[in-house]
Amino acid sequence: MPLMKASTLRIGRRYRSNRLAEKYDAVIIGSGMGGLTTAALLSALDWKVCVLEQHYTAGGYTHSYERNGYEWDVGVHYIGDVGAATRTRKMFDFLTNSRLKWAAMDDEYDRFYIGDKVFNARAGKQEFRDNLVQQFPDEIAAIDLYMQLLAQVGGALSMLGMERVLKPWQRSLAAPFLKWKMPKVMLRNTYAVLRELTANQDLIATICGQWGDMGLPPKQSAFVVHAMIARHYLYGGYYPVGGSWKIAEAIIPAVNKTGGDVFTYARVDQILVEEGRVVGVRMSDGHRIGCDCVISSVGVNNTFNSLIEDRVSQRYGYAAKMKHVRPSLGHLGVYIGLQETAEDLGLPKTNFWIYPHNDFDAAVNEFLKDDSAEFPVVYISFPSAKDPDYLNRHPGTATIEIVVPAPYAWFEKWQGSTWGKRGDDYAAFKQKLMDRIMPHLFEKLPQLKGKIDYSELSTPLSTQWFSGYQRGELYGLDHTTERLQQDWLTPKTKIGGLWLTGQDILTCGVTGAMMSGVLTATALVGMRNISPLMKKIFG
Ligand SMILES: Cc1cc2nc3c(=O)[nH]c(=O)nc-3n(C[C@H](O)[C@H](O)[C@H](O)COP(=O)(O)OP(=O)(O)OC[C@H]3O[C@@H](n4cnc5c(N)ncnc54)[C@H](O)[C@@H]3O)c2cc1C
Repeated sequence: MPLMKASTLRIGRRYRSNRLAEKYDAVIIGSGMGGLTTAALLSALDWKVCVLEQHYTAGGYTHSYERNGYEWDVGVHYIGDVGAATRTRKMFDFLTNSRLKWAAMDDEYDRFYIGDKVFNARAGKQEFRDNLVQQFPDEIAAIDLYMQLLAQVGGALSMLGMERVLKPWQRSLAAPFLKWKMPKVMLRNTYAVLRELTANQDLIATICGQWGDMGLPPKQSAFVVHAMIARHYLYGGYYPVGGSWKIAEAIIPAVNKTGGDVFTYARVDQILVEEGRVVGVRMSDGHRIGCDCVISSVGVNNTFNSLIEDRVSQRYGYAAKMKHVRPSLGHLGVYIGLQETAEDLGLPKTNFWIYPHNDFDAAVNEFLKDDSAEFPVVYISFPSAKDPDYLNRHPGTATIEIVVPAPYAWFEKWQGSTWGKRGDDYAAFKQKLMDRIMPHLFEKLPQLKGKIDYSELSTPLSTQWFSGYQRGELYGLDHTTERLQQDWLTPKTKIGGLWLTGQDILTCGVTGAMMSGVLTATALVGMRNISPLMKKIFG
């Protein structure tokens, strides 16, 4: 795996202090989907915003990179709920001025290899249900109850979001109503809820086959997040035409339109707080940008454990609150290039999830205890097969991406080293991991043997380096039931003028982060002021 010179898809404008406007209405730290959505919505309300991104390109986990004539996405494999005029689709259309197009994956968009059995998820509510019934004909009652639970929780999801934008006194008033309206199963663990429906472990495993989309197996995750993801993909998976970097590329003009900026190479070192109020940020070049409204979309761990001074974090109770949440697992990413097209190679528009057996929690626990244990999941995705535009950009080639969980602790000894220069022992460790991952690909697609032209492996240290997550976490905070009950994970903080957005205040996923941006913009300007814009977007 030689390290090749990178050529990159770079969007956003390179930061220089002399390129800053004299005054901004808001400074947004981080240009992921949460930050850019907040920026675009505020811009639509005539705010002038400044988005500061530490990476060389904008987009956060939606960015893509190019190397050796190939192109890969780092944090987007499929997005649901965009095949019809849903609220999700309408929001994407608004933010991107309908420049972003979507390509449907195969009807069987997810395939679960569970031990020696194979199950599929099929697009369409009825089709999904009927397909489950076909695979588990003795479990019709359990499957129908499960579908009912999804519908119930779905109805309550928007309330969960709304609750986040209420002022504390409003929330106290609304609490009894919300408690009454929200199904009790929402905050229970996923496995416990499903186990009440069926004892069939293969069915439970198939229903939970997408656990990797939130990073927690069923005995640890909150049912509400499971339901949110299951509903999100109920009508199939879609891929952004042209690659995931097209998402940010299509949103940035909306920010620029009202004089706003999206700067790259713009690392914020500190959020400046004086007498309980935000007064701006200090950049890594020492420059101070003054602003009384700062929105952090870099995750709460970064915000309260790194960007805010310790004494401020302590004074406002955030240091203590952080003890109730924990970072999600890290991951290994394998990026593969081949010198034939996806069609010639027979690559599908279906994601593969490969599990050693149907007890996902046991597999994860074993793996965390013993690093030589089987990978609890190997996820394989075929971006060039999904993208109808790929061959226009990279003729005659194909790409594959593989994701495998990996704890940050395995890599801690190389912490602080420079990307691309971490030494021979790091390279050897990566090679060992690679040698364990690749057979999973060849087992499912033996025709690829001998055809790999280029491959490289990222680790949680790469995530830390490029995306700024301190423990290389895959999805920000872990989606435990405890996390879901933290009433401080809201857009408004206790520090005057400091706001939060991004995956930590709602859930992970591009759409989760986008909806967090909607919540933050709503909390900032108030429900009444944003409602004409929401009417325009949602009709
Ligand atoms: C491997 C992988 C696969 C995924 N697959 C999917 C998928 O198929 N579908 C899906 O919907 N979701 C997927 N996700 C999840 C999804 O990408 C994320 O949940 C979502 O994009 C997070 O958006 P965000 O805005 O909250 O954060 P991010 O996108 O992480 O944005 C935060 C930004 O802040 C920047 N930053 C950090 N510190 C600083 C600083 N000090 N100064 C300035 N900037 C800073 C970072 O560089 C980053 O760009 C995947 C994630 C991963 C990692």
